[in-house]
Amino acid sequence: MTARILLLAGTAEARALAERLSALPGLGVTASLAGVTAEPLPIAAETRRGGFGGADGLARYLRQNAVAAVIDATHPFAAQMAANAAAACVATGTPRLKVLRPPWQPRPGWQVVADLDAAAAALPPGARVLLTTGRKEIAPFAARADVSFLLRVIEPVADLPPHIRQLVARPPFALANEIALMQAESATHLVSKNAGGPGRAKLDAAARLAIPVLMVARPDPPPGPVAATVEAAVAWVAETVAIGR
Ligand code: NAP
Repeated sequence: MTARILLLAGTAEARALAERLSALPGLGVTASLAGVTAEPLPIAAETRRGGFGGADGLARYLRQNAVAAVIDATHPFAAQMAANAAAACVATGTPRLKVLRPPWQPRPGWQVVADLDAAAAALPPGARVLLTTGRKEIAPFAARADVSFLLRVIEPVADLPPHIRQLVARPPFALANEIALMQAESATHLVSKNAGGPGRAKLDAAARLAIPVLMVARPDPPPGPVAATVEAAVAWVAETVAIGR
């Protein structure tokens, strides 16, 4: 018998897990994408796209598809999906693991802020900002017309105000490129979420150029087991799911 895993995706860890778990006998993996990216990187598992309709919709999905376990490998800042997954798994008695890469450790030159509103409020008038916090919550920065932003996004964003220009580019970014970009833009500040993981070249570049960083702290994950690595998540599946039994 095949045990079905629902893998909530949207990160490099989720892509790695799809590959690792799909290779295990007795396991069927369904990866789930929010559907916000028009051209996501390929995932080595059967993939569904779009929301479930809140925690209740996800609970229904888990029952209908006899899901044996949920691995929430969404981004550390995908707080709504994480909360929904936790609630749906409690409601259905489904084991759930949160995969959460370690955050970047604070460095000199960082100002840690609680959220994007606080980041926008902390910028001085006239600042020139490299904004790497994503396409979703632009409103706090749109309200700061006295600051000039370069918003880096993977796919273009429509209807930006004139003080927010965009740079469409897909990671990874090399340190030399990050330094060149910040210099070419005469950047005075970097605004980043504490995503953790491989995207730290921008932080190294800011440190080299003594550019202050406004670092948005992570939301707390829901209570429950957390794996910091793909390896640990694979081990959790092996322990938790009765594969082939
Ligand atoms: P979010 O605010 O936590 O979730 C908003 C809603 O989007 C959820 O309630 C759910 O809709 C749907 N959703 C989110 N992730 C989903 C998934 N993997 N599969 C199916 N539905 C999903 O999420 P977000 O911050 O917009 O992130 C969306 C996606 O982008 C996630 O897959 C995340 O890993 C990825 N991502 C996010 C960030 C970031 O900074 N937030 C950065 C890089 C990648 P329903 O309530 O209808 O189920």
